[in-house]
Amino acid sequence: MARRFLVTGGAGYIGSHLVALLCARGEDVVVLDNLSTGHRAALPDGVRLVVAELADQAAVDGLLAEGNWDAVFHFAALSEVGASMREPYRYLLDNAMLGTQLIAACVRHGVRRFVLSSTAAVFGSAAVSPIAEDAPIDPGSPYGESKHMLERALYWAGRIDGLHSGVLRYFNAAGADPSGRLGEDHDPETHLIPLAIDAALGRRPPLLVFGTDYATPDGTCIRDYVHVADLAEAHLLALDHLTPGGDQNRDPDRVHEGGVTWNLGTETGHSVLEVLQAVARVAGRPVPHEPAPRRPGDPPVLVASARRIRAEAGWQPRHPALDDIVRTAFAWREAHPNGYGD
Ligand code: UDP
Repeated sequence: MARRFLVTGGAGYIGSHLVALLCARGEDVVVLDNLSTGHRAALPDGVRLVVAELADQAAVDGLLAEGNWDAVFHFAALSEVGASMREPYRYLLDNAMLGTQLIAACVRHGVRRFVLSSTAAVFGSAAVSPIAEDAPIDPGSPYGESKHMLERALYWAGRIDGLHSGVLRYFNAAGADPSGRLGEDHDPETHLIPLAIDAALGRRPPLLVFGTDYATPDGTCIRDYVHVADLAEAHLLALDHLTPGGDQNRDPDRVHEGGVTWNLGTETGHSVLEVLQAVARVAGRPVPHEPAPRRPGDPPVLVASARRIRAEAGWQPRHPALDDIVRTAFAWREAHPNGYGD
């Protein structure tokens, strides 16, 4: 029998890739999205979309009261490090407060499993690399802080109310559904790979390289780019591990009560200049770029250790190579100059 899932932010970039995967497996999916950054066209036919704000408690309550939810996947959030440095309270309120409200509503309505889209930004300028789940938490931005606040809310929801939760800390989500149906479409776009592709295609001015004086081999920031379809797969693994009773063998010191915390990355770092080279290889033409000041809030290096999810769930990224990731992003971008066109 199909399971029933609520996906907040399911019309967004990463959420829509999970929705497609769940639908392909015959699951029953309902999406809650305010369409501020998501796109109706990113959803498969037949998926029920409820257009509402997360702040609309009556709408959220009404939906959860329908019952029979096997899990809630919570993607809906503001997601830019740079913007969070300019609007810290908006980030803290929207992400942490509304997310906590959602967790409380899930508990009230008897939802047993909850998977949170968290982020490598909880680690800030981590002294270690690669970063394991138990590395010191030190968010370098209100964005990272807001997600960590939700991780803690889930810890307490697990401890007090028995909510089983998965905290998935994405490193840099990138690429597009290999079938070409889904991709990245932000307005304004702020992410490196789509901007670099557009610069290579002559659709935008030269890419600004934010900071060329970091203590890294070529002076630019290093990130761990992970394919969005591999992130989607990790959500299904998290779900399997949140089956009540399924986590009994876990070491309680290493995971929060009744749940899993996993870092999701390929364990390989690439500098901004290396990404520009990969885009140039795929596009067959150089990426015009110029140096620019550092972007506030950016840690110099963020590379994941994915040892835990590999060991616990056998996760193996299908698209670990940067050129493959860029190739799927390029194919989508080239075919959809206006994104979803809405
Ligand atoms: N970046 C850049 N120029 C841009 C956009 C991003 O140099 O126009 C850099 C950014 O400073 C960071 C890396 O590219 O070091 C990845 O940034 P992105 O915004 O894609 O993801 P984030 O790491 O913020 O999640």
